[in-house]
Amino acid sequence: MEPHEIVDLEPCPCCGGVGCVTEEGGWCLYIQCMDCGAHTAGLEFKNQEEKLDAARRAADVWNMRKVIAPGPGE
Ligand SMILES: [Zn+2]
Repeated sequence: MEPHEIVDLEPCPCCGGVGCVTEEGGWCLYIQCMDCGAHTAGLEFKNQEEKLDAARRAADVWNMRKVIAPGPGE
């Protein structure tokens, strides 16, 4: 089971684009918009179970529209 298989993401709150579960360095993940780059805060995980839990929490944050909008030039 991978994180993107268990989350149900609303469209991007900034642009209506597609959100994607993004892993960073094998210890952190966040949801990021494929179009404008808006993203949630990163959530750390230590193992597969925590990774899935982090994905669910990141998806909740995303669906509450609590995203960090991309800065100019980013
Ligand atoms: Zn977007």
